[in-house]
Amino acid sequence: MSLTDIKSLDTDELGSLLLEMGEPSYRAKQIFVWLQSGVTSFDEMTNISKDLRKRLGEISYIAGAEIYRKFESRLDETVKYVFRLYDGEFIETVLMKYKHGYSICISTQVGCNMGCRFCASGLFGKTRDLTASEMLSQITAVQKDAGIRISNVVMMGMGEPLENFDNSVKFLKLVSSGDGLNIGLRHISLSTCGYVTGIDKLAAVDLPITLSVSLHAPFDDIRDKIMPVNKKWNIEALLAACKRYQQVTTRRISFEYALISGVNDNRVCAEQLAKITRGIMCHINLIPANPVIENSFSKPDDKTINNFKDLLISFGLTATVRRTLGADIEASCGQLRKKIREESNGAIIQ
Ligand code: SAH
Repeated sequence: MSLTDIKSLDTDELGSLLLEMGEPSYRAKQIFVWLQSGVTSFDEMTNISKDLRKRLGEISYIAGAEIYRKFESRLDETVKYVFRLYDGEFIETVLMKYKHGYSICISTQVGCNMGCRFCASGLFGKTRDLTASEMLSQITAVQKDAGIRISNVVMMGMGEPLENFDNSVKFLKLVSSGDGLNIGLRHISLSTCGYVTGIDKLAAVDLPITLSVSLHAPFDDIRDKIMPVNKKWNIEALLAACKRYQQVTTRRISFEYALISGVNDNRVCAEQLAKITRGIMCHINLIPANPVIENSFSKPDDKTINNFKDLLISFGLTATVRRTLGADIEASCGQLRKKIREESNGAIIQ
């Protein structure tokens, strides 16, 4: 019999589990509060009888995330965590400090199947999906380690959250629960490479999160080259899904646009970006591309970046350039895991 992943259960599901064990269902809330507070063993649940703790341990497990490495930026207060999961897999999580509080960037899969050419996460494909509990554990472990409370979450780490739809939505429900971490859905962003069936499924759930769409190019020929997902759902199909999403949720969409030198940073691209996003209530988030050793992409110079932003604004769009945090600790997705995999394979690291 396989053990139940107890930290992925909501209070109703915990209630049913307890009833099956012949226990009163009111214990569900007590156990839920313990699990969501980040306990790593049943013995920490001091208001639960020893006998029940033992029986829970026989039928279930508490998914954890063990800190394997921690890198603290000397430039800002960004901290990058590499966690080791129960099966020896590594994931990355980034803690960022902003004026309004702490924000965390979590992973949703081990690796990624989407294969974006500029991204380090997809270099080895996807190993597996993360469970809702493993997404939560990234937050509870970081809060405990840093002694802080996280107020914002971005699902922008390793993985495509909409390819792991059920676990991602379960996570959103658990993390926003008043008896749990109580992080409001309005403080959470989910980023997708343009996984159209997932966008439609997400619209149907209608959660007040922010949907970020990694657009990165306004022409299919460019997007085809840098994002293989575009061959399945091209820009037209993606933007149609964004419009459907907006009709249902009435939420503003955030388009991510990684500026890559000589690829998507010219005036024609800015004009086309303004043209294709017309009619969508949106914000354009410009990200200077982070160089990854395996590819030859680089970010444009500051002047080109600012020109691109000003052009978009002159076309009536709202656009900002994302501040680069943790530049000295390889804080962008997948970069560290790649290094650590190489290390454990005995490769030489500089
Ligand atoms: N799969 C999701 C979420 C993970 S990636 C998605 O594609 O949106 C999070 C964001 O980082 C995406 O916008 C992604 O395109 C971007 N990104 C990945 N590698 C990058 C790099 N080297 N430079 C700049 N942005 C990058």
